[in-house]
Amino acid sequence: MDPRRLARFPYLRDASGFLRDRGITLSDLLREDAYGRARFRGFERVLLALEKGDKAPLEEPPLHADVEVLTEVLAYPVARMLVSAIADPYLIRRYALTEAVWGQMRLSIEDASFIVSLAGELGLDLRPGEGGFRLHFTDFLRHTSTMREKDWKLINQPLEDGYVRLPRERVLRVLRNAIQRKIESELPLPVNDDVLEAFRRDAQHVKALLANRKERFKAEELGKVSITRFPPCMYNLLASIQNHENVPHTGRFAIVTFLHHIGLSNEEIFKVFGDVPDFAVDVTRYQIEHITGTTSATEYSTPECATMKSYGICPGPDALCLTIRHPLSYYRKKPRWLSSAAATSRPLAGPP
Ligand code: SF4
Repeated sequence: MDPRRLARFPYLRDASGFLRDRGITLSDLLREDAYGRARFRGFERVLLALEKGDKAPLEEPPLHADVEVLTEVLAYPVARMLVSAIADPYLIRRYALTEAVWGQMRLSIEDASFIVSLAGELGLDLRPGEGGFRLHFTDFLRHTSTMREKDWKLINQPLEDGYVRLPRERVLRVLRNAIQRKIESELPLPVNDDVLEAFRRDAQHVKALLANRKERFKAEELGKVSITRFPPCMYNLLASIQNHENVPHTGRFAIVTFLHHIGLSNEEIFKVFGDVPDFAVDVTRYQIEHITGTTSATEYSTPECATMKSYGICPGPDALCLTIRHPLSYYRKKPRWLSSAAATSRPLAGPP
């Protein structure tokens, strides 16, 4: 394969062989001055992902000389090690998303046979078809499950012998999801002390930006309400959303109703979800508007504790929980509770 392709798609299998053939060891990559540029490019990749996410500009460096190609191929394992040294789920998702968006842009100038072969490496049964491609319906379903817009529903696709007919740009969008899934599923890598030491300064820098970003995000989006008054269940749900972990539908429902009833506007609630990489914008907005009664006849109530327990999203009561039966009562009572004698003699066990 043309090494310049490996520089542009460094997650291809051949990239490992390319590096093996050059006899570059991990220790060389971590320490040798000759690879300083590759280490910087890897660091830059992670910074761009963190700061810009799917809006990160695609900067194609020149790939004329061997050393330029090698630098780009090496920058990818460097970025993966750095992300792994930090091992933050939010950073991992954002990094995987950014690489995937870049992959989609780069694929836009590739020919059909390369697109099919890359899809094959990602485990997709994709074939060239009349005026576009044909993708097996199981792969279509697997890689479009986060895309809830109507035009991505299987029922709305032209199907032929178990294959979905897709134009080129829609295939690239599916491949973006497949690249993201692959990268995300491989991180964090196990990293040894040498790697941690080599990336100590860069990791500290990224961690500080990450903490700052999360802090800013919390302060901006929830400025009107006090997180310290949240019951453990809602605190956990919010933390999971902000860490980009999977939150079950029941959890999303509960947190939306809770935030609504403590006074956040739809737009403010939307922003709480809005920083999740690749989230379904339309669906989230629709759900919030539906749950809060903006576009439906019902303004849904926050589930009471018994229901939260039956959903499996009550993390276990703290001392204040034992005196209430509803998460909203917790929010209302917490300031009084904190200043009462009961609070000083029976410290709260749960967060925050
Ligand atoms: S007892 Fe109620 S308020 Fe407390 S954590 Fe469980 S569901 Fe939330």
